[in-house]
Amino acid sequence: MKVSAKLVRGRTVTNFKLVSVVLCVVIACGQVLAQTPVPRITPQPPVGKGAVVLKAARLIDGTGAAVVNNPVVVVTDNMITAVGPAGSVSVPANARMIDLGDVTLMPGLIDAHTHLIGRVLGDPAGDNAAVRDFESFGAIISVEHARATLMAGFTSVRNVGASGRFDDVALRKAIDEGWTPGPRMMTAGHSLGMRGGHCDENGFRPGMFDPGIEEGVADGPDQIRASVRYQIKYGADVIKTCATGGVLSEGDAVGATQYTFEELKAMVDEANKLERKVAAHAHGTEGIKLAVRAGVSSIEHGSFLDEEGARLMREHGTYLVPTLSAAEGVERAAKTGVLKGLRAEKALEAAAAVRRAIKLAVATKVPIAFGTDAGVVPHGTNAHEFELLVDWGGMSNMDAIVAATMNAAKLLGWDKKVGSLTAGKWADIIAVSGDPLRNIENVQKVTFVMKNGVIYKER
Ligand SMILES: [Zn+2]
Repeated sequence: MKVSAKLVRGRTVTNFKLVSVVLCVVIACGQVLAQTPVPRITPQPPVGKGAVVLKAARLIDGTGAAVVNNPVVVVTDNMITAVGPAGSVSVPANARMIDLGDVTLMPGLIDAHTHLIGRVLGDPAGDNAAVRDFESFGAIISVEHARATLMAGFTSVRNVGASGRFDDVALRKAIDEGWTPGPRMMTAGHSLGMRGGHCDENGFRPGMFDPGIEEGVADGPDQIRASVRYQIKYGADVIKTCATGGVLSEGDAVGATQYTFEELKAMVDEANKLERKVAAHAHGTEGIKLAVRAGVSSIEHGSFLDEEGARLMREHGTYLVPTLSAAEGVERAAKTGVLKGLRAEKALEAAAAVRRAIKLAVATKVPIAFGTDAGVVPHGTNAHEFELLVDWGGMSNMDAIVAATMNAAKLLGWDKKVGSLTAGKWADIIAVSGDPLRNIENVQKVTFVMKNGVIYKER
């Protein structure tokens, strides 16, 4: 009671000071302000205003439903309010009409596996970035990464792991407040992993990088629970973990199990209790099964998936986020000498395995959500993943699109608001040239981007 009384008094004093400052500005400085343009001190949160009507040749609504020819879409403020073939939809009198021509309208795409913060793999200036780059560097360049991602038609991302001091949470805030254009972000803070594992910083002398639970390095259920709580304290919407070894880390085997079942179970229990899902990086056959049995919501990569693992994923409804772009990217990096030694060997091994894994997952009807691992590959090239899902995985063009719309929205838990071009959803809408059901490469030719009713790209 004492504390609250003090707080109330404190607030009263603060408010009085504020009132004084405001009065001073209004009375003493009013004339100066009237003569000088008022600077735009803070931007407006980017929300569409008024009615917009979109016309196009085709529409794919993102649920897997048949194409609509000659569609009309009505957007009111930031919401989709009507969708249907021309003639079936009543158009508001004062709406802005936009006829986009021979394009296909689609819901804004969702990439469920990005790393917007920091340098992209293969950046020639990135040698020893961990010790050379200033702490804020990764956050500053992430502004451009976010812009490129949005302009490529990705209006939502799930960012699964970031370096720095919650730079990903800061980027999310900057986008939401309207300082810089970018996708809606679901973000994880630091990835959780065991000491010396894929999510730790390895290959340096002792004492140089010894991250703790704050940076996601946690051993045993107690530290893991503490680390989950810490990430959530600073804004994590989802928990990301490294269940097995990885390609780009030093000194660990890519297929080796890292966290035990008990550790993964403690993480999932703590995250779920706090209403967060867990995304598990897992290449290795056993690590995939441990993570699925512990209750994670998605397996990232899944390179060495076997029949039993695929069956378990289907039974548990665990999504596979295949990140085929990353497999192709690290394979290229190994062949061109950007990756050397063990990392190059691991890249070639995992890239060969994931071609089998994606076919197995498709054949077993494992739910698949689109994700690229952008950051391993350049931001803005995300839609190349569609080609790989079709070519390597044997998915139909429509199934590959649904992986990046309704499936990804369900994995994020955002399917009531995004993931389909249907009335009642937020107005996240893109247009791509021609017909992506005839040629999946057309998804890379984005001519129009609207997010939350605001147009970011129009050609
Ligand atoms: Zn990743």
